Amino acid sequence: MKIAILPGDGIGVEIMAEAVKVIECLNSDFSLNAEMENGLVGGAGYDAHGHPLPQETLSLVKEADAIMLGAVGGYKWESLDIAVRPEKGLLGLRSELELFSNLRPAILYPQLADASSLKPEVVSGLDIMIVRELTGGIYFGQPRGIRTLEDGQRQGYNTLVYSESEVERIGRNAFDIAMKRDRRLCSVDKANVLEVTEMWREVMIEVSKDYPDVELSHMYVDNAAMQLVRAPKQFDVMVTTNMFGDILSDCAAMLTGSIGMLPSASLDANGKGMYEPIHGSAPDIAGENKANPLATILSVAMMLRYTFDNADMAKRIEDAVGSVLDQGLRTIDITSDGMTEIGTAEMGDAVVAAMRAVK
Ligand code: NAD
Repeated sequence: MKIAILPGDGIGVEIMAEAVKVIECLNSDFSLNAEMENGLVGGAGYDAHGHPLPQETLSLVKEADAIMLGAVGGYKWESLDIAVRPEKGLLGLRSELELFSNLRPAILYPQLADASSLKPEVVSGLDIMIVRELTGGIYFGQPRGIRTLEDGQRQGYNTLVYSESEVERIGRNAFDIAMKRDRRLCSVDKANVLEVTEMWREVMIEVSKDYPDVELSHMYVDNAAMQLVRAPKQFDVMVTTNMFGDILSDCAAMLTGSIGMLPSASLDANGKGMYEPIHGSAPDIAGENKANPLATILSVAMMLRYTFDNADMAKRIEDAVGSVLDQGLRTIDITSDGMTEIGTAEMGDAVVAAMRAVK
């Protein structure tokens, strides 16, 4: 197993060091046998090679089975030309690797239920997976632009377009994921108004015939948004279009109230994936050993589950995170009265110790 390690910028460097500790522990104590190689991306790539996605890094990620990414960006690079800004490195990775499926879990550890803006009983134990189509739909559809009409006013237009094969591809991916979870899949569309999602629904029903163990349901996107804040625990896996997923996944993630806790994955057609926390490079706390490394550590768990098909090791990491929270250990972003505040490196050490505690 080859893992490309791309720490990126800001706190990316600190949180990735803790994820590497976790992978090293799996290698030494649990026979993972993963090789890691570091690459530069984002501002770090620009500083060293004049480009946020240097050729060396591109070769590295193409050869790897999985990619762990920290975060990119920071004040230092904000005035650069848009073509070489750190964020271009991230977009370049997604398109070069054809990562069409974006998995955004919204998991709320019961110990952190107070951090949510919803009532603890509504969100405690929340565990939803949103599967968002990432390379098609209205964000990429042609024609698009702003034109001037005969009466002189401007008109903006975009095109929402999906081919059957694009829908089938994300559908199969979502069904596969549901098979590894509670086997319930909700496909979110707007089939009552948009023909393209009427077809989306038909394709999902067709794909479902190959997954008789998964219970498929359908929901209009407006209702899905409402249900996410009314009774989010009703969902297991949700699959939806690029734009609906963009909005719903942010909404679901924020139900948990803790940006430092949430991992994500972007997968290609063969299960190769890029794994990263959902937060950014947090330049305001970079270099201070304050960042919460748990989202990145939980991204390692996602990598084991979705690229390396090793649910046992993934669960070991997730249980270790639960155990550390049970011990009352907290980084600054999730701390509250009565808890023990610790730094980034200490949190990584605590997770590794908890992983070893149950052999
Ligand atoms: P951010 O997520 O970096 O930070 C938002 C707030 O959350 C900050 O107060 C930060 O200190 C805090 N925070 C974030 N992660 C944390 C963690 N692990 N532990 C503790 N606190 C944490 O978002 P931003 O401030 O809007 O953006 C900062 C930079 O990150 C920008 O350059 C932006 O472009 C970039 N960014 C990168 C990614 C990515 O690499 N995927 C995503 C979002 C933003």
